[in-house]
Amino acid sequence: MKALLLAGALLAALDSDNALPALTPYAPIANMVGQVDAGRLQANVNRLVAFGTRNDFSERSSTPSHGVFGARDWIARQFEAVAAAAGGRMTVSLDTYMQTKTPRTPRAVQESSVIATLRGSEPGRVYIMSSHFDDCDGHCTDGAGTAPGADDNGSSVAAVLEAARVMAATRFRGTIVFACFDGEELGLWGSNHYARELAARHTPVLAVLNDDIIGNSVGGDGRSEPNVIRVFSQAVPSGADVARVNLVGSENDSPSRELSRFVAEVVPVYIPDFSVRQIYRADRFMRGGDQESFQDAGYAAAIRFVEAHENFTHQHQDVRVEDGVQYGDLPQFIDAQYLRRATQANVAALATLALGPAPPGSVQMPLRRLGYDTTLRWKPAAAAVSYEILWRATDAAQWEHARNVGNVTEATVSVSKDDDVIAVRSVDENGLRSPAVYPVAARE
Ligand SMILES: [Zn+2]
Repeated sequence: MKALLLAGALLAALDSDNALPALTPYAPIANMVGQVDAGRLQANVNRLVAFGTRNDFSERSSTPSHGVFGARDWIARQFEAVAAAAGGRMTVSLDTYMQTKTPRTPRAVQESSVIATLRGSEPGRVYIMSSHFDDCDGHCTDGAGTAPGADDNGSSVAAVLEAARVMAATRFRGTIVFACFDGEELGLWGSNHYARELAARHTPVLAVLNDDIIGNSVGGDGRSEPNVIRVFSQAVPSGADVARVNLVGSENDSPSRELSRFVAEVVPVYIPDFSVRQIYRADRFMRGGDQESFQDAGYAAAIRFVEAHENFTHQHQDVRVEDGVQYGDLPQFIDAQYLRRATQANVAALATLALGPAPPGSVQMPLRRLGYDTTLRWKPAAAAVSYEILWRATDAAQWEHARNVGNVTEATVSVSKDDDVIAVRSVDENGLRSPAVYPVAARE
């Protein structure tokens, strides 16, 4: 062990090229990304719209071809068909419960989310890709009106179904949950119920990729960036000790931020004409999403994907034409090629998380004396063959430097912990990287 430590330290000292490594595609992931099909995505959006409404309060009037539970049962059948390719590793279930009446709602209502779980080979690693299938017209408690919900959020349900389809045959190290939640529009109900169940069972959820409104490429103000998707990430985990965050300066390095940086780095490797715009904010103003339920349940690595430019005349509107303007969330406003790239971005990130190495555990920065360099130590990660120390100036948004320190569990780099932000990530034999882990400073 000592020889290994010394070898690692020597390697770090000799390596003077501190540029971030250029990541290259890993063929099995590129293959999954390449299978994402725009025609299937559009067809699934159209099928969801055909249920007429997916409003929570259509649950009592639902039939196999109409209403929220008609849509729920159709989604479950799609997952079951996908599961046939997974050799018994994928199970489909409903997370059903009775939601009590709230000040916003007329009565209690049954909620029922669809959950497909693709079991991985390593314990301790669960990754979630989520969406919500409920929707709204101009009144979110109207179970009788027409609510197409093509973009909000048929687009993401289609993406989750398509991701499950292209990923089901692969044997992943981590377990992947493909979730389609009910009750988002009325208070994040379905995700809240499910996240609390996971927390009660101490399920180790390492990342949540929540998708909500990802299929339209032209904003209501006419702006369009068809090669950009936004990823929102919360600054500080819910319940964090703000005094400690200020002390160590970790306000821009929460697990959500590290996950956001990871996604932004991985996506262009597999989709060269597509990039992630990181928004350092929990969500848009006056809006929210299911990622918040995971934050609230203590799962701090939870981010939201949303299209680059939204059209607010389509969302939560009664279908109508007014002064020549078409209102309503209709399927003809979906850009299937944009939705394909948004889905591919999820598949690239999710597959890298679940196929790649586990992140280093219990990462610490031991503080023994004043000094000019920085030591990090960590617990070994499953499937890691080496580790990379990453750093950047405290006012830089993205990682600027990296140094591979070999297969060690402690390393010292000649970088000032006072002037830079420093973290570590795992590297596996295929060159896949885990998200970076920010250290806990430990005075010794
Ligand atoms: Zn939504």
